[in-house]
Amino acid sequence: MDLIVAGNRAELRKAREVAGPGRYALVPTMGALHEGHRSLIRLAGERAEHVVVSIFVNPLQFGPNEDFSRYPRTFDADLAVCEQEGVRAVFAPSAADMYLPDRQVAVSAGAMGTVVEGAFRPGHFDGVLTVVLKLFNLVQPDLAIFGQKDAQQLALIRRMVADLDVPVEIVAAPTVREPDGLALSSRNRYLSARERVTALELSRALRAGAVQREPARIRQAARAVLEEAARLDPPLLLDYLALVDPASFTDVGEGYRRQAVLAVAAKVGTTRLIDNMVLDLG
Ligand code: AMP
Repeated sequence: MDLIVAGNRAELRKAREVAGPGRYALVPTMGALHEGHRSLIRLAGERAEHVVVSIFVNPLQFGPNEDFSRYPRTFDADLAVCEQEGVRAVFAPSAADMYLPDRQVAVSAGAMGTVVEGAFRPGHFDGVLTVVLKLFNLVQPDLAIFGQKDAQQLALIRRMVADLDVPVEIVAAPTVREPDGLALSSRNRYLSARERVTALELSRALRAGAVQREPARIRQAARAVLEEAARLDPPLLLDYLALVDPASFTDVGEGYRRQAVLAVAAKVGTTRLIDNMVLDLG
């Protein structure tokens, strides 16, 4: 079956009519698709008859000093990926099609949107949840796939679905990495060869933490790697290292015996990278 490309909400409605009945899985993305996105699309295909990929660089989730205007846009290559992966429809609206000029109402991520990643990106998660809820309402999927790579985003989407009774099943997909450990990201293409070497220290720090068992030791081991990485050329400039409960994103204390997320964010050159690992402390 041919890939249907819907550039606006009317075309999306038509695409759903053409595709017909069955379970629908939505994979929301900002494009610049890589192997991580492909793994989400494949997981979607295992769970549903129809896979819809949305490609939308959402202005609401970028801060004024962030990379919205230079975010990579590779639409033709993205369509080729979707075609190869057997996607039924791509929904790629314009910002004007998504947002009314006089829009007022948005989703608030609450206090959970202001900690860890949210402390460094005010308003980011409100923008994410608002666009995700809109995509759910437009596409009306039975399920949606999100990457563990964006662990706090995943936790907040689960929270939104629970708090607002959104009838969409949320499925998490594991983080896809390069053989040397670097988590795949659309932003990796900004890195120079030397910056990429420094960027490897993010996943190295997570692995150093992951072999420990007690929260204090986990934080200490990861921090030691990050402190060394701060002295490299080019340096790794740490935003945060956090060991948190995967659902609430609050810090875990000593004696904690369940799953925890060890999350890190840092800048290398002008590129901001995030990564995390789920640790089982039980
Ligand atoms: P993005 O296009 O970066 O907004 O990401 C779209 C979806 O792909 C999100 O659910 C991300 O968590 C997920 N994703 C991004 N990078 C990876 C990765 N390396 N492995 C798995 N999923 C990823």
